[in-house]
Amino acid sequence: MLKVENLTFSYIKTDVLKDVSFKADIGENLAIIGESGSGKSTLLKLLYGEFDLNAGSIFWKETEVQGPKFNLVVGYDFIKYVAQEFDLMPFITVEENIGKFLSRFYPEEKHRRTQELLEVVELTDFAKTKVKTLSGGQKQRVALARALAKQPEIILLDEPFSHIDNFKKQSLRRSVFKYLKNKKITCIVATHDKEDVLGFADNMIVLNNHKILVNDSPENLFKNPKTPLIASFFGEFNEIEGSIIYAHQLKVVEKSKLKVKVIQSYFRGNYYLIEADLSGNKVFFEHHLKVENGASVFLSVETNKL
Ligand code: ADP
Ligand code: MG
Repeated sequence: MLKVENLTFSYIKTDVLKDVSFKADIGENLAIIGESGSGKSTLLKLLYGEFDLNAGSIFWKETEVQGPKFNLVVGYDFIKYVAQEFDLMPFITVEENIGKFLSRFYPEEKHRRTQELLEVVELTDFAKTKVKTLSGGQKQRVALARALAKQPEIILLDEPFSHIDNFKKQSLRRSVFKYLKNKKITCIVATHDKEDVLGFADNMIVLNNHKILVNDSPENLFKNPKTPLIASFFGEFNEIEGSIIYAHQLKVVEKSKLKVKVIQSYFRGNYYLIEADLSGNKVFFEHHLKVENGASVFLSVETNKL
């Protein structure tokens, strides 16, 4: 198990992370979310042992993860880290990059592993391609496969699908996260994309103001978003009389106390997101049809629609 206790860290003077504590089980998928600059990447780097903590401790099972003050070489065998900026070897092929750290004394095993990982990241057709000719998204996939090559016990992923186009993203996410679950590899993934979290993460931590704002399952946080920051991660929402109401919880009805004037309808595929005015405040709701700009409609809150 990963155990982080009272971790505090600053690059210069002000703390980036203050008194952060959490745990992750073997095989758990834990998402770290938070606004840009909230310290997600810093936290992953600390878990990897890239910097020395100001206070607190990080343990993986019995081993304490320590920074450069204690280790000549940064990192540990059991942990792999895929940075936001991946560094690959540009002049060798995809296959060679993935197999780089696998023993050449077992050529059959090395070949088998490499092929398996090419399939996980959906790059089988690019095995013989030189990395320098790949797109950003393809490089990101090579970096993922390379990190998985030596079967780490824990993997740290920093915005792992950020460079990958939408055509590939969905199936790649499923493939990678399924692989990690099957192999019981603990996965800590920093992201601002809810698609990386929903359906995959067992728990999620929200970083805010240098601290952990909440640590709970995505289901619990979605159903009971205690703050606007948490709600905003899941989608469009409103604050009505002090309550957080998602756009999909507002329904158009014949008559109600909530009379709004439509400003704009946005096509969203199987529904329209509608922006409207409620006595000077903006509200967002979902509707299966487009509504004329300027039209008045009545809304009601469906709390059971969570
Ligand atoms: P996130 O990944 O959530 O966007 P980061 O961990 O990259 O956030 O950054 C957290 C804070 O630490 C930011 O204020 C950022 O400017 C600062 N920071 C990040 N890296 C460094 C560094 N190498 N030196 C000094 N400050 C840094
Ligand atoms: Mg970052």
